[in-house]
Amino acid sequence: MSKFAKVVVDVPFTNRNKFFDYKIPDHLLNKIKIGHLVLVPFGKRSIKAFVISINNEVEISRSKVKSLKKLYKNESFFNKKDLKLYKWMAEYYNLNLISVIRAAIPAGIFNNNIRKKRKKYIYLNAKKEKIKKVIKKIRKKAPKQKEVLKVLLENSEIDFTKTELANKADTYPGTVNRLIEKGYVKVEEKIARRKPFLEKKEEEKQKFKPNEYQQNAIDEIKQNISNSNFSQTYLLHGVTGSGKTEVYLQLVELILNKNQGAIILVPEIALAPVMVRRFYSRFGDEIAVLHSNLSPGERYDEWLRLKKGKAKIAIGARSAIFAPVKNLGIIIIDEEHENSYKQSSYPYYHAREVGIKRAKINGIAMILGSATPSLKSYYLAQKKYFKYLSLPERVKKREMPSVDIIDMREEMKEGNLSIFSHKLKTNIENALDNNEQVLLFLNRRGYSSFALCRECGHVLRCKNCDISLTYHDKEKLLKCHYCDYNKEIPRFCPECGSEYIKKFGIGTEKLEEEVNKYFPEAEVDRMDIDTTSNKGSHRKILKRLENNETDILIGTQMITKGHDYPGISVVGVITADTILNLPDFRSSERTFQLITQVAGRTGRGDISGEVIVQTYTPDHYSIQAARKHDYQKFYKKEVSLRKQLNYPPFTKLVNIIVEGKKNEEVIKGANNLGAFFDNYQNYILELLGPSPAPIEKLRGKYRWQIILKFAKYNDRNYLLKKIRQKFFPYNVKSVKFNIDVDPISML
Ligand code: ADP
Ligand code: ZN
Ligand code: ZN
Repeated sequence: MSKFAKVVVDVPFTNRNKFFDYKIPDHLLNKIKIGHLVLVPFGKRSIKAFVISINNEVEISRSKVKSLKKLYKNESFFNKKDLKLYKWMAEYYNLNLISVIRAAIPAGIFNNNIRKKRKKYIYLNAKKEKIKKVIKKIRKKAPKQKEVLKVLLENSEIDFTKTELANKADTYPGTVNRLIEKGYVKVEEKIARRKPFLEKKEEEKQKFKPNEYQQNAIDEIKQNISNSNFSQTYLLHGVTGSGKTEVYLQLVELILNKNQGAIILVPEIALAPVMVRRFYSRFGDEIAVLHSNLSPGERYDEWLRLKKGKAKIAIGARSAIFAPVKNLGIIIIDEEHENSYKQSSYPYYHAREVGIKRAKINGIAMILGSATPSLKSYYLAQKKYFKYLSLPERVKKREMPSVDIIDMREEMKEGNLSIFSHKLKTNIENALDNNEQVLLFLNRRGYSSFALCRECGHVLRCKNCDISLTYHDKEKLLKCHYCDYNKEIPRFCPECGSEYIKKFGIGTEKLEEEVNKYFPEAEVDRMDIDTTSNKGSHRKILKRLENNETDILIGTQMITKGHDYPGISVVGVITADTILNLPDFRSSERTFQLITQVAGRTGRGDISGEVIVQTYTPDHYSIQAARKHDYQKFYKKEVSLRKQLNYPPFTKLVNIIVEGKKNEEVIKGANNLGAFFDNYQNYILELLGPSPAPIEKLRGKYRWQIILKFAKYNDRNYLLKKIRQKFFPYNVKSVKFNIDVDPISML
């Protein structure tokens, strides 16, 4: 009896999720499975394709069906449940199924030789006892060589390349060369089997006895774990330092005992060394870290280890949500509110939504952890879609840090025109005197500025969208990026009549200059996109902080993430206004989250922490709520505003970016699309634009945007399908439509 394989061909953008049937040749009859990569004849060529089902019948005439040509690897890249997830994504986000599959499986599979690649690693070239003696001998003369040997001694289970080893010992590869010359260490070639950068710390092996809140959360979730085929999403709302990670660790232990596996997502691996270390020290080789620094081959190796069940726990950023964990038993997303879980390029998807769906399909528990839950998650918890679990106190009854709001308008009146308020300056000086550390946070979306009145704090906003107007140097105009409203900066503040209404915005580099000027004795470090472009640079900066070599760390969002360093006693938010006035309807939410998160970096050890937030709008509810660590207060106000203005979670958004090399074509394309929507007004709640995108030109392309609000998911889906039919294939023409469903960043 003949059998047929239905496939999706590996050609992005040219198919409309149309699938094709091929006859399975006799010699492959019982071999071909769902998820296999095969070669099929397609027109005049042969192309790769993935099998999505095996059937006894085909819809078209049997004689017309061609045979598939070849099976690539005897490896199934996805199973039925995965496919169900991919299809859901293709539907929900309006994507090509093949693009979803490509995003979900390791890129390395398309390269046949990739796994045979050899790499050079450094190992000790003598017995440990001997090396210990060597270390004693060379101590004085060559401290860096000693450091390298110590790293090798303490991490004998890790394969280090020369650069990694040097980084880890905080020195240069030359130091390692010196030791090779002396014969203490040797180079060996191995087929890359990589343990990403890990450190074992003995003291962290031991479990903590959970406090009553932690225990309550564990017990609740445990019920779900023991009940197979029932999926529940939990929102674990725990203040900073409340011991969420310990809850994750104990849940994962329960899962492993049931012989199941786990996925843990973190916003960015490079910023989560502490988390990775804690998982590693408790579970050792059971974990696979899907680090973005892995080469495609290494990634594929880790992927296989998980699929074969050799590793049971996957830790990684966004794309680890697809990890092929065998017998998956739980998914945990830490810092669930973070924007990095949304992929903001094709194929657009949000790892949290995908994760919730994956948990449902697999009948398992999903844990969303955060000190500052996204408005959407909290809303869904209120509606009882998610189960709400709370850790309201810091462990060991540590105090929450006190947050002081400084009114910069007052500082100006008193003649202080510097970046630092008196209070912040004094506190930094005191901290430096006591040998304590300082974090200074600045939101560096410094690409844009807005108009702010220094006297009264008034900011010019769009009268239609309630979004801050962005200043454009070229036209010298303030523009709204949701609708097309624009105006000039007025000479006098419309609120108070003062003439101090000007554009406003500063960057981290400028801040560093100022810090050096005011605190010349301090060791200053900076962490932002510019200083972290090199491999391993995050880690070096964090390590210097950990070792107390840094007195003042300046940084962007990166420094607000879950670091746990006990020496930090002062946190300064240089200007809350730059977050509050991002041209985005979520700017208040971001403000509350960032202030709360950055505040959470202090008071984690035995010294208490102080947080100083400088702002021209001290009375804003997001700032006031952050001051009191009062999530509910923030939520109540924000959710009512969202409702009034038809923003999520009350509506479904789509942002369509129209993009191309020629501005006239882009404008024409945007207008065509706008006109097309006129025919479907019944489906659309509100249409904003077309208007130039906040970033009007990116990588040589002009950008316009249309924002659509829908009351119902079905309306949105219907219309997206219509766009697909009408404008297809919109991705290959000179003007592209990028359709971002549930947009996060609208720049
Ligand atoms: P969060 O992730 O909520 O910010 P962490 O899990 O990092 O908090 O916990 C903060 C600190 O408290 C960590 O150093 C952790 O090891 C410690 N800790 C966690 N749970 C307990 C406990 N039950 N008893 C004592 N210390 C704990
Ligand atoms: Zn004013
Ligand atoms: Zn507007």
